Amino acid sequence: MVTCQSETWRSALTNSFTKLDGLLDSLGLERHEIADLDPNPDGFRLLVPRGFAALMRHGDPMDPLLRQVLPLRIERDRVEGFVADPVGDSAADRGNGLLQKYRGRALLMTTGACAIHCRYCFRRHFPYASLPARGTGHQAAIAQIAEDDSLSEVILSGGDPLMLDDAQLRQLLSALDAIPHLRRLRIHTRLPIVLPERITDELCRMLTALGLQTIMVIHANHPHELGIQTGRALRRLTRAAGVTLLNQSVLLKDINDDPEVLERLSERLFENGVLPYYVHQLDRVEGAAHFSVADDEAKRLMDCLRQRLPGYLVPRLVREIPGEGSKTPVD
Ligand SMILES: *Cc1c(COP(=O)(O)O)cnc(C)c1O
Ligand code: SF4
Repeated sequence: MVTCQSETWRSALTNSFTKLDGLLDSLGLERHEIADLDPNPDGFRLLVPRGFAALMRHGDPMDPLLRQVLPLRIERDRVEGFVADPVGDSAADRGNGLLQKYRGRALLMTTGACAIHCRYCFRRHFPYASLPARGTGHQAAIAQIAEDDSLSEVILSGGDPLMLDDAQLRQLLSALDAIPHLRRLRIHTRLPIVLPERITDELCRMLTALGLQTIMVIHANHPHELGIQTGRALRRLTRAAGVTLLNQSVLLKDINDDPEVLERLSERLFENGVLPYYVHQLDRVEGAAHFSVADDEAKRLMDCLRQRLPGYLVPRLVREIPGEGSKTPVD
């Protein structure tokens, strides 16, 4: 039943960990076992779905999934070069939640909400409050896209576009589908990884019904993130909904800056019908400096990957430089 499934993902979301002690209890960890813990992070609170937490290793304070969501005091350090808006979003703003940096592609910020709070996220300081309120729709942005026939692709981003409910999403997708000059719809989402319950039959039907070719770019950083539920969700997207699946990762110190880990990530992705697309050098956002990996080290990792994997399983190492006409290759 459709209603059943949509209640399932909503309640999975509501049941997420928002308190440190709840999360640590579930992992058999105590506060004192974690060096530099920040029990009261300001602004960007703890948020972790239970299904994602269940993929973490019990009793391991260094677990690579835990480290992505664990608030640390070191985030409060001010490091030169790490700023609030590292990717020049303000400059690319066309208004109404529409960003355009690259030719033919416009990115629509659909919502500020995410199902998980990743500590390294470049949007951790984004002024989400200035986005159109939920439910008022995206009419103004859609009108702008409809008027600009140089656009062939719309990218739904956020936040996480799959945080919209089915009614909002259906309205948005059908409005975009009706614009004659658009050819592709791309959805940037971490939900198949962190809240696979969101990939409902109803969502698959909605995507199948589109005339636009549909690409979903998911976001996994470590092979452990691809659990059984996520595998099922991804298979539904490719088999039932005909969606092309790509993955982007962020290169993160002590989480995936290891050729073995990146190799296994590519293999796991492909087993689940996903091609590795980008591995991003971290955007230099305030509070995330401790996650950054030096370019030389990043290039060395990519060299290792190229020697271990077929070419189609090697993602492109890129970084985002404000004002450039594309993502910039690092190696
Ligand atoms: C990353 C990004 C895109 C997509 O770039 P691709 O190289 O096509 O994946 C588009 N618009 C904006 C604003 C982006 O940041
Ligand atoms: S936008 Fe992506 S990386 Fe940032 S917090 Fe949301 S899910 Fe995590």
